[in-house]
Order: sequence, then C-alpha cells, then structure tokens
Amino acid sequence: MSDLPDEPQNYTVLVVEDDPHTAELLAYTLSSAGFQVFTAASGPDALKKLEIVMVDLIVSDVMMPEMDGFKMREKIVQDTVLRDIPFVFLTAKGTSEDQIRGLSSGADEYVTKPFDPQVLIARIHAVLRRRENFSRVARLDTLTGLLNRTTLEREVQRELARIKRYPADGSLVFLDIDGFKQVNDTFGHAAGDRALLQLASALTKDIRSVDIVGRYGGEEFVLYFPETPEPVGIRIVERMMAMFRNLSKDELNGPLTFSAGLAEAPRDGVDFAGLVEKADQAMYTAKRRGKAQVVPWRPDLADTTLPAL
Ligand code: GH3
Ligand code: MG
Ligand code: MG
Ligand code: MG
Repeated sequence: MSDLPDEPQNYTVLVVEDDPHTAELLAYTLSSAGFQVFTAASGPDALKKLEIVMVDLIVSDVMMPEMDGFKMREKIVQDTVLRDIPFVFLTAKGTSEDQIRGLSSGADEYVTKPFDPQVLIARIHAVLRRRENFSRVARLDTLTGLLNRTTLEREVQRELARIKRYPADGSLVFLDIDGFKQVNDTFGHAAGDRALLQLASALTKDIRSVDIVGRYGGEEFVLYFPETPEPVGIRIVERMMAMFRNLSKDELNGPLTFSAGLAEAPRDGVDFAGLVEKADQAMYTAKRRGKAQVVPWRPDLADTTLPAL
C-alpha cells in the first residue's frame, strides 16, 4: 500500500480486547489490511505478551475487567521500551472526559465504538505515517539524508561497545571539504549545498551495510568502518575522494576534494569522542600537508599544533 512507509505485512499489531466478538472483528479487519495481528484478552495478558513480542502498534479497549485500558496504558508508559509504541484506544467510552484522558496519556488516537473498519484502518495508517516521519526527521540530517550527529554518535558507540567484546579493528574517519568557503563565495550557497549532496553520494556509493556515515557538522563528516584495519580504511577513503572529484568536477571550475584523518579502534581508543579527536587531529595534518589526502593518526601528530595553511 503506497500510503504507508512500509508494507503493512511488515507491521505487527497487538489487539487488546476482552469481548471475543469485537476481538475477532478487529483481527479480521487488521489482517485484511495486511497487518500481522496478535490478540490479548486483558491488560495483564497484553503486558505479558509485550514482554515476549515487540509490536509496531497497540490497539486497546478501555473497559475490561481486572485492569482497564487506562490503567494498562499507565503501566506501558512506565516502561522505557514500551512507551514509544504507537497506541490507539478503541472504546465505547466516548465522553469528552474519556477522550481527553486517553489522549493525554500519550495515546496517538482515540476511536469510539461502533467503528467503521475503513476509517479505523485509515486512522492507523495516519498514526504510523506520522511516527515514521517523526523518527526520520529525528534521526537524519535534513540536507544530505545521512545520519545526523546524535544518531551517528549513538551508532558508532554501539559498534565500539561490540569490539570491546569481540576485538576486531575498525576505522574511524573524520573528513572536511577543502576550500569550501571559496565554493560558497564564488558559486553561491545553493551550489555549496549541491556539493554537500555530491559528497554524501560519494561517501555512500560503495559502502557495506554495516558501515556508518554521518554529518558531524557543516562540511565535516564522520565515517566508521567496522572490521576494517587502517590500510584498508585508507584505500576506501581514497576511492571516495576519487568519486567526489568526479561528481563535483562538472558544476564547479574543477573538482572538489577533502582532507581526512583516520584513527583505528581499538588501537587508538574505544570511545567515540577520543577517536573523533584523534581523527580530527590527523585531518588537520592532512590540511597542512597540502590537503586532498587522508592521514592516519600517530601519537607524534599531537605535538604539531601549527594552524592549517
Ligand atoms: P579548509 O580547506 O581549510 O577546510 O577551508 P574551508 O574553506 O573549507 O573551511 P572553512 O571552515 O573556512 O569554511 C567552511 C565553510 O563551510 C563555511 C560555511 O559557510 C560552509 N558551510 C557549512 N555548512 C554549510 C552548508 O550546509 N551549506 C553550505 N552551502 N555551506 C556550508
Ligand atoms: Mg471491553
Ligand atoms: Mg571545516
Ligand atoms: Mg573545509
């Protein structure tokens, strides 16, 4: 279905409903729309199921014996993992007070019974689209579509935590476009933005799915290649440079380049900030040595504090 960010069959839904007929109708409606459906007959049953299976959406009744839907929602909100699951109340409790209570508990939608199955599906699609847009915006850099700085840091840190347990060399690269201010000054900011997009394609063209590429700042990017020792990392970056020259050469008066520094984990560190600092230092050495090159970090680079040319 084209109005959802993903195929419906990739979404799982937990239906929480004590009335067996309504539960059956809901399961039928949702699975006809392509969702994979789990059902729970009570709040406690739902909470138990949520410990075992991760779902993409919860559709819950309010009036149920033992624990009502509002109470169950309170429990879910206390759980850091469960509280972000999109949540829809579907209930005969339709007073303004009920609806306000439901929505202020953080539910995404409040639908009253009797319900029109088509409308319910449309509302669920809208909820999932909103969530998807939200998480995309929160994760990615808006100009380049690469990971933003926060996500980049989180993903690299996850990889670094892994190599503490299963040691394998990884390469962290810090890179900065050469003479970029000149590009903006000569060709305009829009041309500068297009150059950033060309760099983003050069950095993502031939990488493996495990590689991490993010925008660290304005014209600065950080990459992390798991299980890639320094010499291999350098070759990859040089290939990216060739690609960037090629993509940028037509629009501007000549190709653009970047300078990069590389630090290897765990040799040069196992924390994001420390590796970035070293790779940044090596990048400055690359600038001093004439730009358009990648320099691996070495302990003696720390002494060279001369400003870049
Ligand atoms: P160097 O070779 O030493 O790195 O010089 P440089 O000119 O690239 O470096 P400098 O730090 O002087 O300039 C960076 C420029 O990048 C300045 C800023 O206007 C530009 N910039 C940063 N973010 C963006 C952006 O999102 N779009 C555009 N068009 N320009 C940007
Ligand atoms: Mg009920
Ligand atoms: Mg810079
Ligand atoms: Mg620069």
